[in-house]
Amino acid sequence: MIDIDLYLQKIAAFVADKKPPVVDLIATQTRDPFKVLTATILSARTKDEVTAKAAERLFAKAKNATELDRLSRTEIAVLIKPVGFFHSKAKYLQALPAALARFAGRVPSEIDELITLPGVGRKTANLVRAQAFGLPAICVDTHVHRIMNIWGYVATRTPLETEMALRKQLPPQHWLTVNSLLVAFGQTLCKPVAPHCDKCPLANCRKFGVRPRKIISDKRKTMTTPTSRCLKFVSWNVNGIRAVEKKGFFDIVASLNADIFATQETKAQPEQLSAELKNIAGYQSYWHSAERKGYSGVGIYTRMEPISVIYGLGVEEFDNEGRVLTLEFADFYFSSIYFPNSADGLKRLDFKLRFNAELQKFVLGLAAKKSLLLCGDFNVAHKPIDLTYPEKNRKFAGYTPEECAWMDQLIAAGFIDTFRMFNQEAGQYTWWSFRANARAKNIGWRIDYFCVDANSRDRVLAAAIHPEIIGSDHCPISIDFKIGD
Ligand code: SF4
Repeated sequence: MIDIDLYLQKIAAFVADKKPPVVDLIATQTRDPFKVLTATILSARTKDEVTAKAAERLFAKAKNATELDRLSRTEIAVLIKPVGFFHSKAKYLQALPAALARFAGRVPSEIDELITLPGVGRKTANLVRAQAFGLPAICVDTHVHRIMNIWGYVATRTPLETEMALRKQLPPQHWLTVNSLLVAFGQTLCKPVAPHCDKCPLANCRKFGVRPRKIISDKRKTMTTPTSRCLKFVSWNVNGIRAVEKKGFFDIVASLNADIFATQETKAQPEQLSAELKNIAGYQSYWHSAERKGYSGVGIYTRMEPISVIYGLGVEEFDNEGRVLTLEFADFYFSSIYFPNSADGLKRLDFKLRFNAELQKFVLGLAAKKSLLLCGDFNVAHKPIDLTYPEKNRKFAGYTPEECAWMDQLIAAGFIDTFRMFNQEAGQYTWWSFRANARAKNIGWRIDYFCVDANSRDRVLAAAIHPEIIGSDHCPISIDFKIGD
């Protein structure tokens, strides 16, 4: 068992000069349970800077439950936008004064009472009890749950299990402060993706389940020529590259350490991208965007200089949507592809099938010249094993007989679904709906692929899915690919 006093002492010293979490700040500044509760509700799935500004706007109009009661749901939504899920939070906040009336208009301090309030779960209740009232409570959020497991101080599967385990073993003097310390630590150093273990004050950390960030040497930060024997390629539908930029994209690129990193559904034109996104150290970037702003689009980061770049398929109706980008290297082509979605009511199924037919002609032409890698969001689950509920989805976009038949056709033409070369297990998905907690329950679809032409089968040394990487409704996939002897 680790020395938890020593660990938390070192963390406290490390975060001493960091900004405290926003709810702590509001608690210290106001000592007002109403404001602490409101700010805690706003802070869920929202960056601290955004929460702080939204709370300031809201408190300017409603500093207590009586004033909040005078605002409509729309007015509240306008004030708190753009916090995450602001529509739902506006609904909770509008219902809050009536719920507080059961407690004489005051915020209660007991967990059982707090969780009866709209939008208040166990985590929020613990935080409000600790921060607003200074009463014994352990607020276990994702950082506390994750880091306590990394240290091996608990071995639990859910935040609730962590809270129960900590109630038994965490010394009481840490109950009120552990959340603030580990949130600040988890946001700055022990990040969910690629933690900075190289800079961590905890030299003996056991790092359970952690993949530390790779330190890229200065030499690696410059463009390379493909002389190594095995290259790593990654593909990720980022569901908006500007959105994912704010969710740790650069750390993810560094941690995956790919030689080529393909993206899809970038939803941006090159002039809308920040200089940082266009110029990641060691990579050149290429983009093919839709004419319609904020829609579709593909991109590729590469450490190697391509011989040529092919934008699209040469067919206007598809190229207007920025769906295909191909780089040519000495002994292979690499295509990043965002296949159309057949859409609700299969309104775009015909469009998709025409795109598929054109794409097939295009890739067969390339594969006739040299090795070809196709990667991206194919927007189709090929076999029943590739989605959780195949029977229910037969008539829906992404699993219609027509879309699956095209995938059969691609395989019959000699292309190989590289992931299935190495893994035949069910439950291996790359996309999960944002609804109904689907990702946590692993109710998903495998619709992102790396395919290679038949002649390149022996060059594929590994293939993987990276479900632990969050930031989009898809997760990245990767392959290791051998290059010329
Ligand atoms: S060594 Fe790494 S995993 Fe362990 S606490 Fe430090 S940053 Fe986190």
